[in-house]
Amino acid sequence: MTPLSVYLPFNRDCLRGAFEPAKRGGPAPSGPGQWLVVQDQHLLVSPGDGEVRLPSGDMPAGLQGASAPLLLGTYRGVPCWVTQVPRDAAVPDGLTRETLVPMRGAQLPDDLLSLGGMAMQALWWESTSGHCPRCGERTERIPGEWGKKCPACYYEHYPHLHPAVIVLVRDGDRCLLARKREWAPGRYALVAGFVDNGECLEGAVEREVKEEVGVDVKDIRYVGSQNWPFPSQLMVGFIASYAGGEIRVDEEELEDARWFPCGQLPTGPGRHSIARYIIDNYGQA
Ligand SMILES: [Zn+2]
Repeated sequence: MTPLSVYLPFNRDCLRGAFEPAKRGGPAPSGPGQWLVVQDQHLLVSPGDGEVRLPSGDMPAGLQGASAPLLLGTYRGVPCWVTQVPRDAAVPDGLTRETLVPMRGAQLPDDLLSLGGMAMQALWWESTSGHCPRCGERTERIPGEWGKKCPACYYEHYPHLHPAVIVLVRDGDRCLLARKREWAPGRYALVAGFVDNGECLEGAVEREVKEEVGVDVKDIRYVGSQNWPFPSQLMVGFIASYAGGEIRVDEEELEDARWFPCGQLPTGPGRHSIARYIIDNYGQA
């Protein structure tokens, strides 16, 4: 199993090279294209003959309160424009709302999830980067970049990604899974958490497993990653071997953690997530 080809939705690689990000400094193509219209973690799409499509051409008519379009790039040679409409805006005739959130039963095809994820990240960045985080002055776009610069104190910042580790712990023919109290009954998943200042990824794996379920791990191995635009995580996937200790659950984070026989793992994360990818590829007997 190569870690270099994790074609999961939300990874740009999922678009198989057909997406070209907007060129830094290049002229933006103007006029018609395909439209990523985001409304509160949904995309507005055209229901086609058994296949949903992005609205194309000029900006769809009837979008109430749409934000100024941003150019994301081109997909299959066609410009992809991003705009956002308010949560309570009416959906125009001919379009329907589809969720982008896997945990809410996303049905969109992987390419639209990936484009929609990038659109949400671009909008998130626009909505959070308008003022300097150091002095509060209104920022200006750095020409040809997503980055913003402060005209008062010259602080520059660029879109943020937050690395988080996610790990399957194995001990021979059993796998360690955990669940949070708020999850659906019977659902278990992998231990995961954000990387702290000063930590390497492997250090974060060791610490998270120790903190959340109380055991030690060794032989930590990277197996793939997934961009997770809710709003801006980079999930870095690992497998690790059990190295000792008894399960002791951090009750603030988790409700339960236990060993399951490989091949008999409970219902868990859906097919859209790297957690499922890791369980399917590394959690089998
Ligand atoms: Zn400033």
